[in-house]
Amino acid sequence: MALDKLKKEYSKCSQCSELCESRSQVVFGEGNFDADILFIGEAPGATEDKQGIPFCGMSGKILDELLTSVGLDRGDIFITNTVLCRPPNNRNPKKDEIENCRSRLDQLIEIMRPKVIVTIGNFATQRIIGKTKMKSIHGQVFDFKEHIKVVPVIHPASYLYSGRNPELFEQMKYDFKIIVEIIKSNS
Ligand code: URA
Repeated sequence: MALDKLKKEYSKCSQCSELCESRSQVVFGEGNFDADILFIGEAPGATEDKQGIPFCGMSGKILDELLTSVGLDRGDIFITNTVLCRPPNNRNPKKDEIENCRSRLDQLIEIMRPKVIVTIGNFATQRIIGKTKMKSIHGQVFDFKEHIKVVPVIHPASYLYSGRNPELFEQMKYDFKIIVEIIKSNS
């Protein structure tokens, strides 16, 4: 199938020389290829790099809680990152690294044709809809090409940095409800 082919093609990608050195593997993505919802994060961290699964560390636990709060689990979504390889010392992905991963993400969206793309945090949101002011735009619904909707959500890492601010978590749960409402109103 087309997505397996894409995964294979990128499993030995060598476009970003620095990332090729820092990664132990390419973390292509996880979940249901046929899902209506595509989540896009920033880049794999240390745990993800080790296990080859996106969002399997601390941020992933928060993400799972948010999914559970609206009756979803990983089988209902596909999840990937803006950049497939772990940046050294968890630094931010660089512009040229995001560009090198552009065609791969475009192809993934084209093959999957999800109903909703959920952009997690600044980097994914900037990459997909060119916007970054997460504080004001999280939970809003944006139009993307071919009837796909985009919902930017706050990165679970921001919640962790906040010292697990309960009010922030409530806001995050509310944004996840919007994702489910879009799916319901489209089915
Ligand atoms: N943060 C991300 O943005 N992506 C991951 O895969 C893990 C943590």
